[in-house]
Amino acid sequence: MKEAGVYIHIPFCKSRCQYCDFNTSARLETFIPNYCLNLVKEIQISSRIFQKECSIGSIYFGGGTPSYLPANCIQAVIQAIQDSFNVSSQAEISMEANPADIIPSKAAIWHAAGINRLSIGMQSAQNVELKMLGRRHRFKEVVQAVNILRTAGIENYNLDLMFGLPHQNMQSWQGSVTKALDLAPTHLSFYALTVEEGTPLAAEIQTNILPTPDEDLAAEMYEWAMDFLAEQGFEQYEISNWAKKDEVDYRCQHNILYWRNRDYLGFGAAAHSHVGDQRWENGTRVPEYIQMLSRFSENKKVNFPLPWFETCTKLTSAEDMGETAMMGLRLVEEGLRDDLFQERFGKSLFEVYKEQINELVRLGLLEVVEGEAHAIRLTKRGRLLGNQVFMRFLMD
Ligand code: SF4
Repeated sequence: MKEAGVYIHIPFCKSRCQYCDFNTSARLETFIPNYCLNLVKEIQISSRIFQKECSIGSIYFGGGTPSYLPANCIQAVIQAIQDSFNVSSQAEISMEANPADIIPSKAAIWHAAGINRLSIGMQSAQNVELKMLGRRHRFKEVVQAVNILRTAGIENYNLDLMFGLPHQNMQSWQGSVTKALDLAPTHLSFYALTVEEGTPLAAEIQTNILPTPDEDLAAEMYEWAMDFLAEQGFEQYEISNWAKKDEVDYRCQHNILYWRNRDYLGFGAAAHSHVGDQRWENGTRVPEYIQMLSRFSENKKVNFPLPWFETCTKLTSAEDMGETAMMGLRLVEEGLRDDLFQERFGKSLFEVYKEQINELVRLGLLEVVEGEAHAIRLTKRGRLLGNQVFMRFLMD
């Protein structure tokens, strides 16, 4: 592992959103100080295995709601990563944030700690939709948040928006996108709502309190967004992600690492890691995570796998290739590059997936990019039916 990213999982939220089924804990604030201490410890211990091998090009705080943490905890974790690994001076350091948490004192500490990219969970500009989703912010706070970040010197920010919501219509969606653009983001992420079993939102739909989201309308919203953002000077580089076209590359470097199926180390409860053909996942429960790390003596010899891993598996070459194909095809502009595929697996993707590629090209879902960057990528129709395309690479 020469180059890698670091993912930090912060599984705390101030309150639960109606649609969420992530591994996150609301009202467990008492665990936060100990969680942060043990995150630092996990980073230090892991660096005894990986430190010499890799340089870190990106750090990403996800959750949960990382911005909910005291800013000095975030600062301590970044410091621990910098002290334990070889972090590039150009590293992208991103954090997910709830607009309501973005206050001047926190923003100043984040900036001083090295955070240079924020991903803001705006979700909608319509307060009635935010309320239905159980979000704890209102649109006014998104506007304030952006002003605070700019004042603090963080000018690179993404806005997350959701579409395909109950009661949402094309006009309200277009209004949200337009208001998001007025906030001059460098990046936009649009996600269709998935109604997950067992969530309060699913219960409200099952009991007819809310209507079932209209899938055809959601597809129209997505198609409209693709055309509109292209007109507004944004490049769609991934199925759900757009970056402002500029001399600066505003694509999320950390997420590109996932889509190219490269290496990353994940720290914290429920964090996943990926190194070569190995995948592992830390245990999901916060109390157990803290307990295991606290009990681990600093002087003890470090052996892989570490005791707090819940799973640790080695992929077969076919699985690794399938995963690489599936992830790479999400990059709608770059696609799945044959040079990178050959470098990793020693054979061409056109040889390995000849049958699937021919069939999907015939169906109008894939196209072959000729020239130096010989690649395959989704067509516009293929972007709408991405899952059907990915399955073809995973099943064979
Ligand atoms: S903030 Fe995110 S992780 Fe937390 S409850 Fe809401 S959707 Fe889930």
